[in-house]
Amino acid sequence: MAKYSFKCADIGMNCGFETKASTKEELMPLIANHAKTAHSMNEIPADVMQKVNSAIKKSLF
Ligand SMILES: [Zn+2]
Repeated sequence: MAKYSFKCADIGMNCGFETKASTKEELMPLIANHAKTAHSMNEIPADVMQKVNSAIKKSLF
């Protein structure tokens, strides 16, 4: 089963936030919600979104 994880620090944020989900579709709203509450991003800018996408790690186990 695949697992997706994201660390805020991986996109250059000085932030210890880390989240995991079993699908990318589940992971994205968790990231969006964090960006909104912790980083005051009501909408994630396209350039940040690109960084987020490349920072998402997929692990298989
Ligand atoms: Zn963060």
